[in-house]
Amino acid sequence: MNHGAPIYLDHNASTPVAAEAVSAMIATIGECYGNPSSMHSIGQAAKSVLANARRGVAQLVGAGPAEIVFTSGATESNHLAVLGALAMQPGKRHLVLSEVEHPSLIALARQLECRGIATSRIPVDRAGRIDPHGVASAIRPDTALVSAMWANNETGVVSPVAEIAACARAAGVLFHCDATQAAGRVPIDFAASGIDLLSLSAHKLYGPKGVGALVVRKGLDLPPLINGHQERKRRGGTENVSGIAGFAAAAGVAGDRLAAEASRMAALRDALEAALVQRFDEASINGAEALRLPNTTNVRFAALNAEVVLGRLDRVGICASGGSACTAGASEPSHVLLAMGQTREQASAAVRFSLGRSTTSAHIDRLLDALSAILRPARERAA
Ligand code: PMP
Repeated sequence: MNHGAPIYLDHNASTPVAAEAVSAMIATIGECYGNPSSMHSIGQAAKSVLANARRGVAQLVGAGPAEIVFTSGATESNHLAVLGALAMQPGKRHLVLSEVEHPSLIALARQLECRGIATSRIPVDRAGRIDPHGVASAIRPDTALVSAMWANNETGVVSPVAEIAACARAAGVLFHCDATQAAGRVPIDFAASGIDLLSLSAHKLYGPKGVGALVVRKGLDLPPLINGHQERKRRGGTENVSGIAGFAAAAGVAGDRLAAEASRMAALRDALEAALVQRFDEASINGAEALRLPNTTNVRFAALNAEVVLGRLDRVGICASGGSACTAGASEPSHVLLAMGQTREQASAAVRFSLGRSTTSAHIDRLLDALSAILRPARERAA
């Protein structure tokens, strides 16, 4: 059966690349082949692409261009932040991080624990909110870094970033914030935020994969993870010039459209959620009581396992995820939902719909119709 063009509702996993980003990448990959470190004119042309891109990315998050360190993505940025913070403060061997951080950070923390670094995990409440008081009481004299994400990739729950920053500041501890899901979706003012280190990824904001940034507060002498003279010795390796140009072009579009898209998506998402709970008795929205990103809904259908729902949706041309894409394929239930107090069975029933620029109300209608067809037989079986 032909279901028409596929409907993509997995923008928290990755976004389509904006036409502006594609153009910027094509233009630079052909023309700007010089090494930005070469002194001749062809090298300097590539260097000026980087300088412009640095300004573009900085502008999206209210940072200074000199504060941007380009990386291969947010996974690397998270590693650079944590390992850099530990390396620059050799006497400090304790980290504070939330229970709901991205798997890249959780795995790093586990690895560091095996190497004798102590970690304190900040719990979240049933709605997925991080308690800033929990952060304040976990900080010790030997704490090197507090790490808390801006918005959660699975639930969209937004953290009390300003309060956490204030706690870290009051204690004189560095604060790293993984803003991968927030950038381009909600306003970020790095200069005013009290954050010291901010992770970004291009492919979550309609840029290419394999490029991101760590925003490093001016004056912070963060040692590199990868040595070399590039990025002012903060990240070695010849720069991914066309990827970085695509990142900046995408950041520009995201900044221009942020306010309009945020309200458009919130309206679509809210309509979806209202219909879900009205039509399906067994549906409940994870994190509904918390402040959330405008594009994300994470729903539990008590009647069915998420894999069954997702498989059937895929068969009718609707692409969504259960939990994070980074753990897709693994049968472990989401650590985020477990941290919110759900049972393994409940956590295994979660489906995430993450909306984006291409999402229309017709897509939401088709999704709801498809879910009715999937859930009705399940209800009839249960009756
Ligand atoms: N942090 C968060 C919150 C994310 O959602 C992701 C992507 N799933 C990452 C980090 C990793 O980003 P990247 O794919 O650029 O390494």
